[in-house]
Amino acid sequence: MSNLFGTHGELLDEAGREVFDSTKLSAYADCEYLGKLQYEEHLAPQEPAVALVFGSAFHKAVEVWTQQRIMQPPCIDTTAVANAEAAFVEIWEHELPLEVREMLEFSGDKRSVGNFKRLFAGYRKKFPLEMYEAVLACEQSFTLLLGTTPAGREVGWSGVIDRIVRWQDGIYYVDIKTSSYQLDDKFFDKFKLSGQMRGYTWAGQQLVGEEFAGALVQGVHVQAPLKTKTRAADELVQCESIPFVQSQLEEWRINTLHKIDSIHRAREIGYWERNYASRCSAFGGGCEMKRICWAPPEDQENRRQLHFKERVWNPLMKDAVVE
Ligand code: SF4
Repeated sequence: MSNLFGTHGELLDEAGREVFDSTKLSAYADCEYLGKLQYEEHLAPQEPAVALVFGSAFHKAVEVWTQQRIMQPPCIDTTAVANAEAAFVEIWEHELPLEVREMLEFSGDKRSVGNFKRLFAGYRKKFPLEMYEAVLACEQSFTLLLGTTPAGREVGWSGVIDRIVRWQDGIYYVDIKTSSYQLDDKFFDKFKLSGQMRGYTWAGQQLVGEEFAGALVQGVHVQAPLKTKTRAADELVQCESIPFVQSQLEEWRINTLHKIDSIHRAREIGYWERNYASRCSAFGGGCEMKRICWAPPEDQENRRQLHFKERVWNPLMKDAVVE
């Protein structure tokens, strides 16, 4: 492993600061052992998770469509849409084996190229780019100095912001969420206390240099066409705004710095607590590391070899704003 990594395998930036993003932080917050497996040992399941591939390919399509429409001069919409759909297919074909893709397509699965095109059309109809006063950024990656923890560690805060827009006289960070669950109050409420929403709103403010009004969550309900045939595709797409004031963002920042010290305490004593509760069996298939934890300790190394591969998390490899 290169010198970009610390003694526990943790990713460092060029200044020697450990880098965190919202998924890394939430993994450690849910279960210290999960954080260790993913971000110190860099383990990932051998088989790709179809839901994750669908979500990231959908994001890519929205990114390509948005960037081509806001270029100077902008692409015409049909060209931008065709290029966006091609970008989805490229990821889909790269990440999933042919037999899996064919099974999904022929069975009319909710995660298929055919259903993506239907939902993407609904997304564009519901959220045309003309609804914003301006799109200030699209797929903006960043690594910023979050601050210094109480124990004196400087921390880099990293991530990718789907979009930053000026809308209804405010500036918002926009996050697109694909979900197989209903887009009801329960769905949107969970983002009100999400570290990602607060952390990306905080980061967006540093990038733009202005206060934000909050975050916009744009949800896409991923359901099979047959289950939703009475609903137009744009009815499967909903948005909720989550306002934040500066004191809430500062509360999140301070809490995050404290949390990072607690991660270091686990490393210092050499014991990473297991969740053994809701994170292990979370909706959507449960923890991705459960095959290791299901086994007796003496068999866990064997499980790692059988079902997991090394995948090094490194957001610093992307084009990024780094401070
Ligand atoms: S299965 Fe449970 S205990 Fe094991 S890593 Fe995942 S959350 Fe932690």
